[in-house]
Amino acid sequence: EIYVLRLGHRPARDKRVTTHVALVARAFGARGIYIEGKDEKVVDSIRKILNNWGGSSYFIVKEIKSGKKLVEEWKRKGGTVIHLTMYGINIDDLKNEIEKIKYPLLLIVGSEKVEGWYYHNADYNIAIGNQPHSEVAALAIFLDRIYKGRELYMEFGDAKIKIIPQKAGKKVIRNG
Ligand code: SAM
Repeated sequence: EIYVLRLGHRPARDKRVTTHVALVARAFGARGIYIEGKDEKVVDSIRKILNNWGGSSYFIVKEIKSGKKLVEEWKRKGGTVIHLTMYGINIDDLKNEIEKIKYPLLLIVGSEKVEGWYYHNADYNIAIGNQPHSEVAALAIFLDRIYKGRELYMEFGDAKIKIIPQKAGKKVIRNG
């Protein structure tokens, strides 16, 4: 199981990006997101998506006070902590190690600047290439590498809305 820790959420600036981090987490196979900080609007919009598109029975959304506490707890319980950062080791050079990683995984993504503490306390600092880009892109590619593309076929049993893929146009079915 994989969970995401979104660090340093700033309500004034990060609403959209944090929501997108959560949507990517859900759509690509993670089991939940911990958001460091408080933002009712973001939590509400994620819950709405879960309610309509499915996943509310198992995808957790939690606001937390301290990312550090969560990391410490995670390691104490025997899980693995991975910090996604452009300064880390390129994911492509860690293929063999990643196959052997102990679950559950806590995947950390930052917003602006991530404190040095996380670089030293994560089990791995992994780069999705060593160029600056985005927490949304980094998370998506990491999950795609882990699940090897299978996540693109995920379905949610409790979905109220489901898409019937079309070459052109839009077709959806609604349950309830
Ligand atoms: N300048 C920031 C720093 O010092 O790390 C990065 C800001 S970036 C907009 C926000 C987050 O995106 C980072 O904390 C990291 O989790 C993720 N990110 C950006 N580029 C990445 C890369 N090449 N590999 C992995 N994660 C990346």
